[in-house]
Amino acid sequence: MEQPTKLDSTGNRETRLATLKYIEPPVGSILPSTANLTKARSSLPEKLPDNGLGLSSTQNHILDDIVPAFNGGSISPNYYGFVTGGVTPAALFADNVVSAYDQNIQVHLENHSIVTDVEFSALGLLVDLFRLDRSTWQNGTFTTGASASNLLGLACGREFVLRAAVKRKGISIDAESVGEYGLFETMQVAGVSGLQVLSTLPHSSLAKAAGILGFGRKNVKNICLEDPNNPLRFNMQKLEAELASSDKATIVAVSCGEVNTGHFATCADDMRYLRELCDKYSAWLHVDGAFGIFSRILDDSLEFSYVHQGCEGIDLADSIAGDAHKLLNVPYDCGFFFCRHPDEASRVFQNANAAYLTAGTREGPSIPSPLNIGIENSRRFRALPVYASLLSYGRIGYKDMLQRQIRLARMIAGWLFDHPEYITLPEMGSKGALLDRTYIIVLFSAKDEKLNQGLAGRINESGKMFVSGTSWDGRPACRIAISNWRVDEARDFALVAGVLDGVTTGK
Ligand SMILES: *Cc1c(COP(=O)(O)O)cnc(C)c1O
Repeated sequence: MEQPTKLDSTGNRETRLATLKYIEPPVGSILPSTANLTKARSSLPEKLPDNGLGLSSTQNHILDDIVPAFNGGSISPNYYGFVTGGVTPAALFADNVVSAYDQNIQVHLENHSIVTDVEFSALGLLVDLFRLDRSTWQNGTFTTGASASNLLGLACGREFVLRAAVKRKGISIDAESVGEYGLFETMQVAGVSGLQVLSTLPHSSLAKAAGILGFGRKNVKNICLEDPNNPLRFNMQKLEAELASSDKATIVAVSCGEVNTGHFATCADDMRYLRELCDKYSAWLHVDGAFGIFSRILDDSLEFSYVHQGCEGIDLADSIAGDAHKLLNVPYDCGFFFCRHPDEASRVFQNANAAYLTAGTREGPSIPSPLNIGIENSRRFRALPVYASLLSYGRIGYKDMLQRQIRLARMIAGWLFDHPEYITLPEMGSKGALLDRTYIIVLFSAKDEKLNQGLAGRINESGKMFVSGTSWDGRPACRIAISNWRVDEARDFALVAGVLDGVTTGK
């Protein structure tokens, strides 16, 4: 194989190579030009070449054809689609180390490598960041993202609730494990007719997990208050009635940061009540905190007290899902899963009959082998960018970053509230209430029907910023999600206000 050669240092190529260390935000458009997309598409090979192109030609092809057709979603501070995050310089450095040294994190073998120790330590740093108790919560794993973490939560919950149902019948056989005996046999022994997830406006990945795990997507149900101003809140009476009457085993899932509005489903009192209900009816309490859990970084100042409350009490849950590739600003793909029950995940994810995969034992906190508590066996060292970024910036660095994000969201929300052409959603009586509730997401539409149709498209055509199009109450709406570490309140507010003012004049 050809050795790497130094590429010539002219033009953009050098800049792009340098980007492997630090990426400058894109100038001009956030989305690639049609010309660059066309060029990249036509450069793709029709079939595998018999003789390889060689390393330097392949590098040229990637840097000159492919990279210019990427979008600046993660790199630009003004990409507000989805909840995308960015990549901090520390995380970028660590991720390049991960690729270069290509460690496989699956079995904890203390004489073979330090990597499982580092992963366990990174999990502990995250637990600290969220003001959770290490003795309960430094138990879990890194995943590919919150979707996988939600899947782990429902899988652990499925074990737990079915085991409880078996015990209730007074049967003491070990046929209680779904991992061991499968869903059908365990459910027959337990005498339950099905499994369900009760939630309020859950993320689509919960229904996906329910489909994979044998609950069925239709068994993910909204138990919302019929309050148009706050559909995210649980209807507690309805929830208890459902738990008391259903012959299905239940997982209650909390939307800790709802993806359209960024609002929170619960407060500390709600969480205490949900915990009581789940204990009473042997249900599992799961929190989807993909980006919402980050509000636990904030302190309890008046400015942030409302969003801070939205995350209080989540330590009463049985499991918590979170995303690192969003607000932690590490590269894709990286999520995390915390679980207060140390044995549940291995009941599901154990590699059976593979003695060569068992780890040695040692003194002190035992570090589990990741392959027996998560989906994959061979795994990327995705914990290293988390570790690097948390060490580099610390609690205060992350708090500053999140505060800048929230303050920008609130500047935009307040400006839209006062704007003659726009409304903020969900509609709120007072600007004060709107600002208090605004976390990192601003949802809005134009009052005028004609302007509102295709609004997201027109905003994005500016090339200066990017918003997601969505719908609210049957009307098209736009969503600004602020999640990049590069946020600068004054600079970004001026840019957003300029673009949003600009599109109203062309209606
Ligand atoms: C993004 C998100 C998910 C899914 O996370 P992925 O990182 O896409 O797997 C789940 N829940 C919520 C609330 C989210 O915002």
